[in-house]
Amino acid sequence: MSVLIYIDHIDGHIKKSSLEALSYGSKIAQQTGVPAEGLVLGTVNEDLAALGKYGITKVHQVESDQLTQVDAQVFAKAIAEAATQIHATVVVFSNNSSGKTIAPAVAVRLKAGLAAAATALPDTSSGFTVRKNVFSGKAFAYVSITSKVKVISLNVNAFTIVEGEGSAEVSKLDIQVATPKMRVVDSSKTSGKVTLTEADVVVSAGRGMKGPENWGMVEELADTLGAALACSRPVADAHWRPHNEHVGQTGVAIAPNLYIAVGISGAIQHLAGVNRSKVIVVINKDPEAPFFKAADYGVVGDAFEVLPKLNSAIKKLKGKA
Ligand SMILES: Cc1cc2nc3c(=O)[nH]c(=O)nc-3n(C[C@H](O)[C@H](O)[C@H](O)COP(=O)(O)OP(=O)(O)OC[C@H]3O[C@@H](n4cnc5c(N)ncnc54)[C@H](O)[C@@H]3O)c2cc1C
Repeated sequence: MSVLIYIDHIDGHIKKSSLEALSYGSKIAQQTGVPAEGLVLGTVNEDLAALGKYGITKVHQVESDQLTQVDAQVFAKAIAEAATQIHATVVVFSNNSSGKTIAPAVAVRLKAGLAAAATALPDTSSGFTVRKNVFSGKAFAYVSITSKVKVISLNVNAFTIVEGEGSAEVSKLDIQVATPKMRVVDSSKTSGKVTLTEADVVVSAGRGMKGPENWGMVEELADTLGAALACSRPVADAHWRPHNEHVGQTGVAIAPNLYIAVGISGAIQHLAGVNRSKVIVVINKDPEAPFFKAADYGVVGDAFEVLPKLNSAIKKLKGKA
C-alpha cells in the first residue's frame, strides 16, 4: 500500500505545483503509515532521485513515445494502471490544468471517490475527510471519501512545499501505454514569461489603466517583481491584452501568494478567479471600490502616480535601482 503522487512536468521541468503535491502526499503517507511514491510519465531533465527531499521513497517512471504530449485519456489509463500495480490507496494530483482533466478520469478507472480542489490535509482520525473549495472558492465543503482507493487533487498554492533531506529510488515501471487518439499538430506559446497559474506573484490591471498604451508601467512592475501579468475581462474583450491573461469566473482561476490589482473594481466575477490568493493588494482611486473589501492591503490613489513610485521603491529594495 502507498500514496502515489503524480509528478507533472513541462519542457522537461517538474512543475512547482507538483512539488506541493509531493509534499502534501508525503504528509498523507506519514499520517496513514504507508510510504509515499511518485510517478513520472515521460522524460524530465531533472534528477528524479532528488525528489526524495519532498518525502517520497520511490519514483516510478514510465517512458514511451506515446507520452511526449499530455493526452488525458492516455495518461489517465497509465496512471490508473500504475496505481493498481503498486497497490496505491491514495492517488494525489495537483489541481492544475492537467490534474483537472486527468484526476477525474483516473478516479473513474479506479472506481475511486474524488476530492477535487482540496485545500488541506485529510482528517484521517475516523474515515477520510477532505476539505475542498466550492463555488469558486466562496465556500468550503468537507467530503468524506468512502471508497477503498481515494483520489485527491490539491489546489495550487494551498500547501507549502516542505523540503527536507533524502533521496528516492528511481525505477522504471513496465506499463502498456495506449496510443493517443489525437495529436497536437501545431502550438504556439508566449516565451520568457512567468506562467500565470504557476506564478507566486501576479500583477493584474483593469479598465482603470485607460488603454493598452499604458501597460508599460504594469509590465515594468511585473518585471521588477518577477511576476506574471493578468487582467480583467473587459480589458481582454477590448483586445488591450491577450485573453490568456484574463482572470476570473470566465477566465483563468489563480491562487498566487501575492495578487496586485491595479484599476480593477473587484466585481464578483473577477473575484471568483482570484480570491484564493494569499495576499491581495488593491490600487484604486475610488475608496468605495468593492475590491477593497477583499483586500489585505489597499492604496487609494491614481495608478498613474502610484505604479511608478511603487516600482522604483521595490527596485531600490531589491537593489535593482
Ligand atoms: C457572466 C459574466 C462573467 C464575467 N466574468 C468575468 C471574469 O472572469 N473576469 C473579470 O474580470 N470580469 C468578468 N466579468 C465582468 C465583471 O462583471 C466586471 O465588469 C469587470 O470585472 C470589470 O472590469 P474592471 O474592474 O477592469 O473595469 P471597471 O468596472 O470599469 O473598473 C475600473 C476600476 O478602475 C478604477 N480606476 C479608474 N481610473 C483609475 C486610476 N487612474 N487609478 C486607479 N484606479 C482607477 C475605477 O475606480 C474602477 O474601480 C463577467 C461578467 C459577467 C456578466
